[in-house]
Amino acid sequence: MRTIRTVSELRAQLRSPRRSGRRIGLVPTMGAFHGGHLSLIRRARAATDVVVVSLFVNPTQFAAGEDVRAYPRDEARDVALAAELGADILFAPSHDEVYPEGFATTVTVDGVTQVLEGAHRGAAHFRGVTTVVTKLLNMVSPDAAYFGQKDAQQAVVIRRLVADLDIGVDIVVCPTVREPDGLAMSSRNAYLDPGDRARAVALWRGLKAAEATVDEGEREPGALVSAARAAMAEHDVDPEYLEIIDPDTLSPLAEVDGDALIVVAAKIGPARLIDNIAVRASVAPAGQRGDRIGAAEAPCSA
Ligand code: AMP
Repeated sequence: MRTIRTVSELRAQLRSPRRSGRRIGLVPTMGAFHGGHLSLIRRARAATDVVVVSLFVNPTQFAAGEDVRAYPRDEARDVALAAELGADILFAPSHDEVYPEGFATTVTVDGVTQVLEGAHRGAAHFRGVTTVVTKLLNMVSPDAAYFGQKDAQQAVVIRRLVADLDIGVDIVVCPTVREPDGLAMSSRNAYLDPGDRARAVALWRGLKAAEATVDEGEREPGALVSAARAAMAEHDVDPEYLEIIDPDTLSPLAEVDGDALIVVAAKIGPARLIDNIAVRASVAPAGQRGDRIGAAEAPCSA
């Protein structure tokens, strides 16, 4: 595996495999690898010929008050892990390589960026994400790019972005990888002290309580939210938001009838954590309520 720092060297490296028709996969990351990142690299390795993992802690997607300098970094460990999994290129550009003097362009996606994370972290967050992802897609020109369902709204935003800007890449979204107690893996979990780490399971417990309520036949979002909030309160956690939404449009649902996404964000000590679970259920005729019609965690979806 080669570590590459400049766009010109990256393009030079990819020219020949691209010409010979080899498929290129991109896994965009901010480093500090955990099992979630590794699952994306494995998926890319299995499905494409040349795997590029990008590592760039993008300052423009950090909201005011979030400290980009405190974000966990360990490039040497990331290099070793990516190499072990068979990645071909680790692309780790400098700040100035991505945002050179005079940089003046941003990419804005309306609508799906304005709710949930966009509403709570401010418009700059997704503008930072959509701008850097557009740049990475232009730098690498991959055939497929891999993202995690953990950041469900981000995946919806990226799908919107590539559709609207006619970017010829397959967006592949892979399932959330969890710790044994259900906590979604996240670089931000490193901020948790042991007490906060124990409380952090509240997000998953809340989501599972809502899912169980669906399994019991409940289809009314308010009842699911109440069940989830009660489960979280047992861990002394009050969510920033907890919503039952349409997985494609992110709009709140009036009832669960088909696919639904339950999304949650909560501050646990110094860390702001997010998580989600997909449920699918039908509004069955009276007497047959409770028929779940799908699994919560779907496999990677292209
Ligand atoms: P990040 O380095 O946090 O920007 O994440 C890079 C990619 O890894 C994004 O597509 C995330 O959605 C994905 N990711 C982060 N955590 C997980 C997880 N626990 N399971 C699966 N994918 C994840």
